[in-house]
Amino acid sequence: MKYFTIVKNEEQKDDGLRIDMGSVKTAWWCVPLPNCPDCGGHVVWWEAEYVSGTRKCLGHPKNEPTSILDARVPQPGNYPNEVAEQVERLIQRRNTCPDEEVAKIDLEILRLLRPWTEGLQYDTKGGCGSLFSVQSENGRVYLRRERFYP
Ligand SMILES: [Zn+2]
Repeated sequence: MKYFTIVKNEEQKDDGLRIDMGSVKTAWWCVPLPNCPDCGGHVVWWEAEYVSGTRKCLGHPKNEPTSILDARVPQPGNYPNEVAEQVERLIQRRNTCPDEEVAKIDLEILRLLRPWTEGLQYDTKGGCGSLFSVQSENGRVYLRRERFYP
């Protein structure tokens, strides 16, 4: 199936970018993301209008009124144990649920963790706009170009 990627706000063919972020010690979504390979900006969770779980480069924090809150996933140890237990239960369900449920569970995890994000704010037009996805394969986690199927 044909697909395209978005690099620096433009539709482009996939350049095959795949950054190895190491092995999964906790859960795939806990792995800290590297800075944007296209411009060095921060890669932030970005669901709006895109595939669930999409990450977008929004540059560096601005703390302006038009900005959105940082939704990068906080790391275990930065939120209370009871939240960690709830999240762990969701991850276990996510590992065995039907595909249709995955997006719903991701959203629930994100909602649970949002109060413990760093609270940095980004201009929604900041950064280069490149879009990524986080994927796990054979126990390792990769940052890859998000693929869009027209
Ligand atoms: Zn960028």
